[in-house]
Amino acid sequence: MPDSLTIELRSVAEAAIERSDRLTAVATLGTGGEFVFVEPPTVSFVAQSSASGGIQVRGELDARIRLTCRRCLAENEESFVVPLEFRLEPGLEPGVEDEGVFALRPDGDVVDIGPIVREELSLAMPEFPECREDCRGLCPICGVNLNEATCECGSSEPDPRWEMLRKLRV
Ligand SMILES: [Zn+2]
Ligand SMILES: [Zn+2]
Repeated sequence: MPDSLTIELRSVAEAAIERSDRLTAVATLGTGGEFVFVEPPTVSFVAQSSASGGIQVRGELDARIRLTCRRCLAENEESFVVPLEFRLEPGLEPGVEDEGVFALRPDGDVVDIGPIVREELSLAMPEFPECREDCRGLCPICGVNLNEATCECGSSEPDPRWEMLRKLRV
């Protein structure tokens, strides 16, 4: 299993490269521990040199990721298919990188597209993961999971003493 997403410059200059790799995710994409992969993700792509001396990459990343619901904290697994379509251009100044166009910065005779793929994956992640759209979350008072049980916190009668005060203030 490859643990990096590198493209050999010499071979891509000769002919298009087609690859489909099942990755050792932690080494390649999960450096910060921000993704919890249920199984090694697969990256398939075709890389070919462009007329400008750059590299055009097209493919997709398939990943199954464990997410924690922000409302009820339940863990659930979701599949993501992240399209990859970008170009690496030589001599591109940092800062002029555009959506889908990155500077080609070779490391010796290879270029590592791992950081770009990782970035694309982060962008595909939901900002606010939810186990389901109508997740009821946890009761803020007693902590019970309101998807599975009900509690008395929200429905309890108002304290009669406060009720008195409220009447006085009206
Ligand atoms: Zn939930
Ligand atoms: Zn409660």
